[in-house]
Amino acid sequence: MRIARFTTGDDPRYALVDGEAGSEQLVVITGDPIYTPVQPTGERIPLDDDGVRLLAPVIPRSKIVGVGRNYAAHVAEMGNELPSAPLLFLKPNTSVIGPDDPIVLPDWTEDVHHEAELAVVIGKVTKNVTLERALDQVFGYTVANDVTARDAQRADPQWTRAKGFDTSCPIGPWIVPGLDVADLAVRARVNGELRQDGSTSQMVFDVAYLVSYVSEIFTLLPGDVILTGTPAGVGPIVDRDIVEVEVEDIGTLRNPVIRRA
Ligand code: ZN
Repeated sequence: MRIARFTTGDDPRYALVDGEAGSEQLVVITGDPIYTPVQPTGERIPLDDDGVRLLAPVIPRSKIVGVGRNYAAHVAEMGNELPSAPLLFLKPNTSVIGPDDPIVLPDWTEDVHHEAELAVVIGKVTKNVTLERALDQVFGYTVANDVTARDAQRADPQWTRAKGFDTSCPIGPWIVPGLDVADLAVRARVNGELRQDGSTSQMVFDVAYLVSYVSEIFTLLPGDVILTGTPAGVGPIVDRDIVEVEVEDIGTLRNPVIRRA
């Protein structure tokens, strides 16, 4: 099952995504599937219809929790040490954009990088969940680009500016519930060129561990999102690039990059 949030010009609605790549149909459902059982309205809309636009599949209700340095090869390429516990940071929900929305490069940075990541969407109020029960709290999975101003990340002791600016959290194209995420390819392409090609099997701390660990610190609310870290191969994105991030069995999230003059 794939669950999308979309608009035809009016208020956002939700749909199941049916069909093969290039000929997907939106099977419209009632309400928000994180809170209400999935119930089709009977309306079907071709995804490529004029005026149909996918939106970020969830706007996190309270927070996006990022995890730094969770793939050993990425830690090595940045010249950092492997953390002994997950290294957490927050991105505000105002950083979220959806498929095809532009990543707007801020004027205070000259070195913005893509980071392809598996994103975990929380389905239930979660506090101090055990490792064994952690995955029961997950609504589903989507794809994220943890866009990072690398120069600001180096300059600032905290990563709030580097990772929290407007448009720095593209997510989508949809949410896949019930997926086994133990070994899925995680890739990034810039203008069609493969830049990152890792696997979730390379995570230092796996999804269950992250959900459990994060829930010891924050209460997670339905719709909150955890970004699980990025594999090796991060690199710059510049004005007019097209960046695509992909997780196997979920889909590809594409965003143009712009710098406003
Ligand atoms: Zn990241």
